[in-house]
Amino acid sequence: MQANDLLHLAEQFGSPVYVYDAEKIQSQYNRLTKAFSKVPNLRINYAMKALSNVAILQLLRDMGSGLDTVSIQEVLLGLHAGYAPEKIFYTPNGVSLEEIEEVHALGVQINIDNLSILEQFGAKHPHVPVCIRINPHVMAGGNANISVGHIDSKFGISVHQLPHLVRIVENTDMNIVGIHMHTGSDILDIEVFLYAAEILFDAAKNFKNLEFLDFGSGFKVPYKKDDIETDIEELGKKLSKRFNAFCVEYGKDLTLIFEPGKFLVSEAGFFLAKVNVVKQTTSTVFAGIDTGFNHLIRPMLYGSQHHIENISHQKGKERFYSVVGYICETDTFATNRKITEIKEGDILCFRNAGAYCFSMASNYNSRYKPAEVLWMNGKGHLIRAHETFEDLLKNQIPLPVEAAV
Ligand SMILES: *Cc1c(COP(=O)(O)O)cnc(C)c1O
Repeated sequence: MQANDLLHLAEQFGSPVYVYDAEKIQSQYNRLTKAFSKVPNLRINYAMKALSNVAILQLLRDMGSGLDTVSIQEVLLGLHAGYAPEKIFYTPNGVSLEEIEEVHALGVQINIDNLSILEQFGAKHPHVPVCIRINPHVMAGGNANISVGHIDSKFGISVHQLPHLVRIVENTDMNIVGIHMHTGSDILDIEVFLYAAEILFDAAKNFKNLEFLDFGSGFKVPYKKDDIETDIEELGKKLSKRFNAFCVEYGKDLTLIFEPGKFLVSEAGFFLAKVNVVKQTTSTVFAGIDTGFNHLIRPMLYGSQHHIENISHQKGKERFYSVVGYICETDTFATNRKITEIKEGDILCFRNAGAYCFSMASNYNSRYKPAEVLWMNGKGHLIRAHETFEDLLKNQIPLPVEAAV
C-alpha cells in the first residue's frame, strides 16, 4: 500500500482508523504454504485472536485456511464467518470443563492443556478425538509476557509428566489424535524451534492413533527497516524434511499444522491517527494524537516498537518527537522518534498494526473504538464502523428514576 492511499482512506473514513491490506495477508499465507510445500498434508490454522474481524476471517477462509481459537466466543465468530466446524481448532488455557464440552458439541477439535481437565473429560467422553498440548520447556519468545514454553509457564502439559499423561489416556481409553506445542511469540532461532520439534516427535511416539502434529506459531515478523525475522523458507526446508522422515518412522502420513497469527496479519495492518496538538516543553516535542492505549496498547504493554511515519508530510526535515495519546494516564507510543516535521492536523501512520492491535482495543476513557477498513483491489471497504454513543450505553442499566434521587 502507498502512503497516499492511506492518506485518502483517513480522509474518507475519518481518524483514528485501522487499515488492512488484503494482498499482504494473502501473500504471507502463500509464502508459508510454499515454504512447506514438500509436506503432503499441511494445514494452516489462523490464530484469530490476533485480528478477529469477520471480514478478515472470511478472507482467510476463502484461501483455505482453518482457524485456531482460544475461547468459545472465537469459535462462534468462526462459525459465523462460514468456517466448517472441522476447520476450527480450540486451544484454550485455563477454561472450564463445561466450556470445553460445549465447544466439542459444536463439532470443533479440542485441545486440552492440563491433566486435571484431561482426566475429567476422558472419564466422561471416552473415544472423543482429543489433541493434547505439550509444554516442551524450550525458551523461545521475544518478551517474558508472550513466552509460553518455559518451565514456569502456565501453558501446556509438561513433557516431564508424559508417563502420568499416558496413564490417564490408557485408563480412560481416550482417543489422542494430535499433539500440539506453542512455544511463544517471536522465534528467532530456527535451531531452537527444531529442538522443540524433536521433543514433540519423541512425545508423539507414545500415541498410536495420531492424525496430526501441531507446531503452534511464534514466527517473528520485522518491526522496522532491516529488522530480523524468522526465516520461514529455511525453517520450511529443514522442518519439512524432518517431519516427512518422522512420518515414515511413525508409519503414517500425519498432517502438519501451524497456527500463525502475527505472521499472517501484522504487516498487513496500518493504524492512522491525527495529530491534535504539537507541544514543546523544555526538553521534548510531543505530538499528541487522537488515540491512546485504548486503541493500541502494545507499546505500553509489551514495549513493542511500531514504526511511525507522517504520511501528510512524507518529505522534508526530520525532527525528534515523543508521540503520545490522549488518555488521562501516561500513554507513550514512542519517545525521541525521528519523524518528518509534524504539524497539527497531520496523519501519522503506525506500521505492523494488524496483529494484537484492534483485537486488544477497549473503551477506556469512554472513547469509541475505531473503524476498520480492508484495502482490496485498490479500494477501501469498511469492515467495522466507528462506534457511536449507543455502543457505550449498550448493556448498561441505569437506576430507576426514583432510586437515583
Ligand atoms: C496466540 C497463539 C498463537 C499465535 O501466535 P502468533 O505469535 O500471533 O503467531 C498460536 N497458537 C496459540 C495456541 C496461541 O495462543
